[in-house]
Amino acid sequence: ATKTPKHYNITLLPGDGIGPEVVSVAKNVLSLVGSRHGIEFGFQEMPVGGAALDLVGVPLPDETLSVAKQSDAILLGAIGGYKWDKNEKHLKPETGLLQLRAGLGVFANLRPATVLPQLVDSSTLKKEVAEGVDLMVVRELTGGIYFGQPRGFSTTEKGEEIGFNTEVYATYEIDRIARVAFETARKRCGKLCSVDKANVLEASMLWRKRVTLMASDYPDVELTHMYVDNAAMQLIRDPKQFDTIVTNNIFGDILSDEASMLTGSIGMLPSACLGESGPGLFEPIHGSAPDIAGQDKANPLATVLSVAMLLRYGLQEEYAAITIESAVLDTLNNGFRTGDIFSSGKKLVGCKEIGEEVMKSVIKLF
Ligand code: ATP
Ligand code: MG
Repeated sequence: ATKTPKHYNITLLPGDGIGPEVVSVAKNVLSLVGSRHGIEFGFQEMPVGGAALDLVGVPLPDETLSVAKQSDAILLGAIGGYKWDKNEKHLKPETGLLQLRAGLGVFANLRPATVLPQLVDSSTLKKEVAEGVDLMVVRELTGGIYFGQPRGFSTTEKGEEIGFNTEVYATYEIDRIARVAFETARKRCGKLCSVDKANVLEASMLWRKRVTLMASDYPDVELTHMYVDNAAMQLIRDPKQFDTIVTNNIFGDILSDEASMLTGSIGMLPSACLGESGPGLFEPIHGSAPDIAGQDKANPLATVLSVAMLLRYGLQEEYAAITIESAVLDTLNNGFRTGDIFSSGKKLVGCKEIGEEVMKSVIKLF
């Protein structure tokens, strides 16, 4: 009997600036890796961000959202640029990204921070501290103080102006992000650190209680708790102690940026946004880099590694994910570097060429 190959539909959202260049490289790598693992990919490219504004006048066309929702996973390049900076809020490219996340119902943001041995000198940390850092921040994305009610401006009895926001978490919101975090930790080194401020905030007390309850479903994962002020300090002092970190929206906003700066290689960092069901959204953490757009200078490896996350967390295709990660490491071992990660003695190449080197490594290794 002939085995029908697995088939997945991928929505490509190249977006603006360097987005189209890096997505094109990542798409070619994904196709090749698929062919080596008996997986077939169908691609549908749709406009988003500034590209969609220029084309149809809105940053997220209805058709883009509906195609994305019906696909198995979504790969986004980057959104934004000088050209649309003065637009009103609802006509800003970035609004398209917020609408896309809301439309997909993605509530979990996964951001790894890995110091690769080949790029340890790019790190802002001392070599001894940077070496071997490999952690993942799982941030709650749709709740907490950024969305809680009541919020607004008011005045006190004395006529003094006040601004106020509210941190709110319901058990279902905590449970679903905790579930993603435990599953993520299980796929990694099996260590989960939940970060909160449970000594001061009620929402954090509930957070800690629910995360602790869920630990009984994951006897193979070692759970610890840390206050956010300590976590911010420990990330600089000894980041190697962390494997997976789970935290709320605002703490995750801050800690994921802090963690990514430890690596010093913005062109190397992928991310994932996951929901309960439905496709995940995968994208490099860097922006549209308008200063180098269209010059074949962009580092596509953050997007290539986003495709590895797409395979692992979006499609449960662990082997194909490992193939991509190994090929990226092999390419770096062979000395190829784009400008952002270049150091003396290495071979300076452009976006397309480093993509071709990754594909050669895939063919060589698998
Ligand atoms: P955002 O668009 O999210 O606000 P930003 O404008 O602050 O982000 P980026 O667009 O990521 O930042 O660019 C910051 C700097 O990093 C720029 O100088 C850009 O050229 C560089 N950069 C970003 N991504 C890459 C990449 N993939 N390859 C090479 N250089 C990059
Ligand atoms: Mg930018």
